[in-house]
Amino acid sequence: MPLKTFLPLLFLAAGSHAQRTSESSEASITDPASECAPYAYAPVTSALAASQFPPIWTPVASLLPNDAAGLALFAKINSSIPNIPPKGTMAGDFSNFTPTYPATDPDCWWTFHQCTQPKAAGLSADVASVPEARTLGYGFDDGPNCSHNAFYDYLTAAQQKATMFYIGSNVMDWPLEAQRAVADGHEVCVHTWSHRYMTAFPNEAAFGELWYTLQAIKLVAGVTVKCWRPPFGDVDDRIRYIAAQLGLETVLWKYDSNDWKVGTGGVTTATVQANYDALIANVSAGVFDTVGAIMLTHELNNYTMQTAMDNYPALAKAFDHIVPIAVAQNQTQPYVETNYTFPTFAQYIATHNASTVPAGPVPGANSTTSSASNVTGSNTGSGSSSGSGSGSSQSTGTGVSLRVGVGAPLVLAVAMGVLAVL
Ligand SMILES: [Zn+2]
Repeated sequence: MPLKTFLPLLFLAAGSHAQRTSESSEASITDPASECAPYAYAPVTSALAASQFPPIWTPVASLLPNDAAGLALFAKINSSIPNIPPKGTMAGDFSNFTPTYPATDPDCWWTFHQCTQPKAAGLSADVASVPEARTLGYGFDDGPNCSHNAFYDYLTAAQQKATMFYIGSNVMDWPLEAQRAVADGHEVCVHTWSHRYMTAFPNEAAFGELWYTLQAIKLVAGVTVKCWRPPFGDVDDRIRYIAAQLGLETVLWKYDSNDWKVGTGGVTTATVQANYDALIANVSAGVFDTVGAIMLTHELNNYTMQTAMDNYPALAKAFDHIVPIAVAQNQTQPYVETNYTFPTFAQYIATHNASTVPAGPVPGANSTTSSASNVTGSNTGSGSSSGSGSGSSQSTGTGVSLRVGVGAPLVLAVAMGVLAVL
């Protein structure tokens, strides 16, 4: 073992995490195990020590007492939040709620019937497709994943930008990986602090799930994002209103690869490939001749990222254009900070050739066999910077790495009562 490899391990063994400070050096690591070695990053360590953030991977209960800005903004909007009670549990058990929920779906609750057109006044429709024809709005949930360098290298080689929906707790665990998304020119959006079902949260806690993720991304990447995606798509008009007050556009999807579900509920790698193939078949069938597509895909683990790479050549061949969601909307200012701009759709497609497909690291398109061995590789969030929490981190297959107590299985009643033991 080279000395320079051995020394960090000594530090880790002693309970102290190696310091890493450079996005570019972090991005150059090619060994996934090294990528996922916990490290300390001073701005995160300092912010946690100053109690500026809630415990990572824990559902936000309330705004922090020293958070003057958050408390002031919440106080300003609280009285105008739609009077809709929280639903079910934050683990997604709605079995005690749906029997009495009106079939008319008065709250435009996506989990109920995939409503994307709000019924409360003054709210914009969710983004579930993109306005440009024969175009894929390309996005990935649940990052930043500590072992995402091969995937991001692939996107760079393809000259392909995407929209990355980041979990606040992952941003705090893997801040240099979060910086890479901005450095590489991807669009970053919020995917909540703890990745729970948002309609279950009371108002202040729901606000906090979004607010602290915004602050985490700002802390480590220097940008204030303007979009979010609800975990599991679980949003209603109350949550939409809170997000809108934070300047966040709600982004959903119409097609689900189900890559996050492999190994649960009978979903296999073949199921996921069939979902990709069906989307591609829809392009040639003319389904997207007037409006483009958004499909739910993930940065969750090595399998989901490998599958994205395996399928990229076929997607690039089928769609006329693959672009970040902001670009498909001609949103040229993706962040509040005005020193960062995106190209218009026309500018993007003039300079990005969708047929540019890199040779590696993937041996050929649509290969599921090359992916299968990586199913267990995952974003096993280490709690590197927080020093908080006990128990192990597990890739649950729900689209997030959750910190749970050892030997305490999570039982999740998914949506309308389908049980999955995770
Ligand atoms: Zn997710």
